[in-house]
Amino acid sequence: MCAVPIGPQHQHIADVPDHRLLCTCRPCYLLFNVESASRGHYRAVPENYRFNADFSMTSAQWEALGIPVNLAFMFHQTDQDKHVAFYPSPGGATESLLDLASWDEVVAADPVLDGLITDVEAVLLRRLDDGFECYLVPIDSCYELVGIVRQYWEGFAGGEEVWGRIDEFFASVKERCRG
Ligand SMILES: [Zn+2]
Repeated sequence: MCAVPIGPQHQHIADVPDHRLLCTCRPCYLLFNVESASRGHYRAVPENYRFNADFSMTSAQWEALGIPVNLAFMFHQTDQDKHVAFYPSPGGATESLLDLASWDEVVAADPVLDGLITDVEAVLLRRLDDGFECYLVPIDSCYELVGIVRQYWEGFAGGEEVWGRIDEFFASVKERCRG
């Protein structure tokens, strides 16, 4: 955002119309926390992590999204006025281009999901053998997961190292939910 040097730990601002995240220093971050500062062009990514214990989604609803791995993140994109669904892949964040009617149903049934801040807060899902783990996270956290998959995925199933790192990532998300 500006010329101030920043360290490895820093906040992000979403460039809403350009669909990208910008690294920011603390003063710029605080400035853009005020929505009116840029008339919605830039939005500060919050730092709020929550576990959604009441999450409910059927296997049929999940399968309708056409996501080929057991990881996904969804958020509301303001300029398209709709929910979008992405999953991490070796090529980066990949968007599901299927109709998301089943996801709209899940959100409509859960006021917690519907209350997320558009463009900057996401629903992060991990599908397990017996259901889902659902976290409400800052969007930059989803791109941290995307980075892990892009960097460490090998072969068809990913390999041991990437899944170990994914486990560590979810352990740190859980920890941040507690804090
Ligand atoms: Zn700055």
